[in-house]
Order: sequence, then structure tokens, then C-alpha cells
Amino acid sequence: MKISLSTSCKQIAVEPPLVNFQGTNNTLNLEPFFRRKDKVVFVMGATGTGKSRLAIDLATRFPAEIINSDKIQVYKGLKVLTNKVTEKECCGVPHHLLGIADPNSNFTVADFRRHASSTINSIVVGKRCLPILAGGSNSFIESLVEEEPEFRYRYDCCFLWVDVSLPILNSFVSERVDRMLENGLVNEVRSLFDPNGLGNDYGHGIRRAIGVPELDAFLRAEMDSATDDKTRSRILKAAILKIKENTIKLACRQRQKIHRLQSKWRGWNNLHRIDATEVFLQLDSEDYSSDNAWETLVVKPSFKIVDQFLSE
Ligand code: ATP
Repeated sequence: MKISLSTSCKQIAVEPPLVNFQGTNNTLNLEPFFRRKDKVVFVMGATGTGKSRLAIDLATRFPAEIINSDKIQVYKGLKVLTNKVTEKECCGVPHHLLGIADPNSNFTVADFRRHASSTINSIVVGKRCLPILAGGSNSFIESLVEEEPEFRYRYDCCFLWVDVSLPILNSFVSERVDRMLENGLVNEVRSLFDPNGLGNDYGHGIRRAIGVPELDAFLRAEMDSATDDKTRSRILKAAILKIKENTIKLACRQRQKIHRLQSKWRGWNNLHRIDATEVFLQLDSEDYSSDNAWETLVVKPSFKIVDQFLSE
């Protein structure tokens, strides 16, 4: 059942008890001792596993808002290449820290901590809603959860890890790159390209996105009148292959990092692995079995975990 965000905002933060001592008119506020922590949900996982979709599915069932924790999607631009959710996919759920930073700036881990903390606070205190952080940048999540004492003091966390077996995920992300190409990936990157080489700092801002450095040689070849079409096409094919390879490497690294986090610190003990492999195996089928599998194998168990977490 879908709960409309505007009509129902379940109270997540619990008011502290007020203790009245008999014989006096004084009411003693024991907030520092009895205050229940507010709740935050994280949706983690490698690129391509469906984190954004799950976050939206949860946010249409609980009164919640989503905060992006992907270090590249935080920048304005490159919607196709960075796989940002579209307005339609958002289903009316407010998204924060998505496409907000200047693509030429460097949005650091410290920037994320600062912005995410104040956004979480405004969602919890201002709107009495649940913040759901969704994104694959584990360094952002790690730093918020581990390095900010105030965050640990104020919030209880529940981590949902959407996982897909790597060989299955590999073929999916490779096909996703093909779809991105059909949707204008090269044009997007071309719009960032500076033929004079100035500004093409691939260690900086949005230009670190997989797909930007890989297309450099092709975009240069395009500008070079001495390069023939056949050579250009060969360079483009090599770039596409590299984008696929690097995306797959990223997925492997992201998965390893979650394993490392899980075994590292007891604060990560509320981490739940949701296996979505079967959903991806059903993707090519003609009927709606993939959507059904997503609902049964991913959304339902995640809903149960979050529901239980909110009632603790
Ligand atoms: P690291 O310490 O390796 O940067 P991280 O956890 O901070 O890891 P990741 O989300 O794993 O961050 O991103 C690592 C790199 O992967 C980014 O610097 C970028 O090159 C690429 N990347 C991440 N997200 C995207 C995206 N949405 N689109 C394109 N490239 C991405």
C-alpha cells in the first residue's frame, strides 16, 4: 500500500518523557537520559544494483525523503552518464544533494558530511520524516557514520545493501553503457570537452566520472582533421570498452568496500544484505517477472527490515 507523503508523516522521533515529582510544580525534563535516537536508513550497493529504485520504493511506503550519497551525481550535469534518476522515476519523492554542486568544483567528503548532516536534521526535525541516504560512495557514508560523533550520538542507523552476483551485474552494467550511448552519452561528455586541453582536469569535479577521461582520445580525434573516420570509429570502440571495464572494476571495488566495512566496526552491525541477483536474471523475460521478483525479493524484505527498525 502506498502512503502519500503529504498525508501521513509517521512520527519517528519520540518525545522525551517529562517526569513530574509529587508535591512540587516542577517538571523535570530528562531528555538527555531518555531521548530515543532518531532513525536514518542507508541504501548501499555497487553501481547498477538498483539502490535508487529501492530508496524510492521505500520512500513511497514510508514518509521519507532521499539524500544522494553518490560522489559524482552530486554535481550538476551528465545526467545520462552518471545515471541520475529522472523526475518521473522520483515518483514525487524529494531528492537532496542531487545535481547541486558546480561541476568544476571539488565536492569533498567534508562537504558531504556538512550538507548531509544539515539535510538529515531538516528532514527529521522540520518534516518529521525518515531520511534515506542512497548511493554507492562508501567513503561518504563511512565518513558520516564513523567520523562525526554528533551523528552517532543523534541517530540510529539501518543499512540495506543491495547485492547482485558480480558476473550477472557485469553483463547488466555493460548493457547499461550501451543504453547510455543510445541516450546521448557522447554528446554529454562532448559538451564538457575543452579542445585546447585547458580545463580537462580528469582528477577534478565531475570530470572524474567514468566515461569522461575514457572519451578524451576520441574527442581529440574528432577535432583533428588528419584523423579519418575509420580511425575515429576504432578509437570510439576502444573508449566504450574501457568505460565498460572501468564500470565493472568500480562495482567490484564498491562491493569489496562494503565487505570491509561490515567486518571493521560494530557500528555497521545493522547491515542487511538483500540479494537481487534473481531479479537481474529475469530481466530478459517477456513478462513482468523481473518487476515481480524485485517486489518479492528486494522491496518486501527491505520494507520489513525498515518497519522493524522504525518500531524499535
Ligand atoms: P574512492 O575512494 O575510490 O573514490 P568512494 O567510495 O569515495 O571510492 P565511489 O562511489 O566508489 O567513491 O566512486 C569512485 C569513482 O567511481 C569516482 O571517483 C568516479 O570516477 C566513479 N564513479 C562513481 N560514481 C559514478 C557515477 N555515478 N558515474 C560515473 N562515475 C562514477
